[in-house]
Amino acid sequence: APPWRRGAAGHRRKSSLPDVRERTLIAVKPDGVQRRLVGQIIQRFEQRGFKLVGMKMLQAPEDLLSQHYSELRMKPFYPSLLRYMSSGPVVVMVWEGHNVVQTSRAMVGHTNPVEALPGTIRGDFSIHVSRNVVHASDSPDGAQREIQLWFQGKELLKWDCCDQTNTCE
Ligand code: ADP
Repeated sequence: APPWRRGAAGHRRKSSLPDVRERTLIAVKPDGVQRRLVGQIIQRFEQRGFKLVGMKMLQAPEDLLSQHYSELRMKPFYPSLLRYMSSGPVVVMVWEGHNVVQTSRAMVGHTNPVEALPGTIRGDFSIHVSRNVVHASDSPDGAQREIQLWFQGKELLKWDCCDQTNTCE
């Protein structure tokens, strides 16, 4: 174990170190891309302290979206949801950090913009539930499923911050 993970006696600590490896899937939906909100949304996750480990832009095929939203297939808005989500490019990202799933949901805000508090992404940038700018996984299991759906393993990168290394070559 690296020194900061060892106790005073040099043993690996079993204590409650935060799980900094939790990951979530965040997507800027087509309306967010079209309204030039990608940069501001990335900025919020960066400044909160999360780590970007994967990102790409694509126009999502319907079969990918139908798997992504499979739990909603019986909802009346499902067909229009798929049309909306495939209508233009999305920017999909994987963010990593302590409690990133739950914290991201709080940052994104309520599904319906009427309920989304100011200060949240939806509360600041959206007015209608069918154009709510951003997606965030709603549980760690859901996040894992969605990350596997949208990304190949090699598209997720491991990196350390320059302030954690002691050489500058
Ligand atoms: P969330 O995105 O907050 O996790 P849901 O999983 O319930 O919310 O819904 C997925 C997406 O489906 C929402 O973000 C929104 O784009 C769309 N949606 C949800 N409810 C409605 C609705 N009543 N009418 C139109 N679109 C909806």
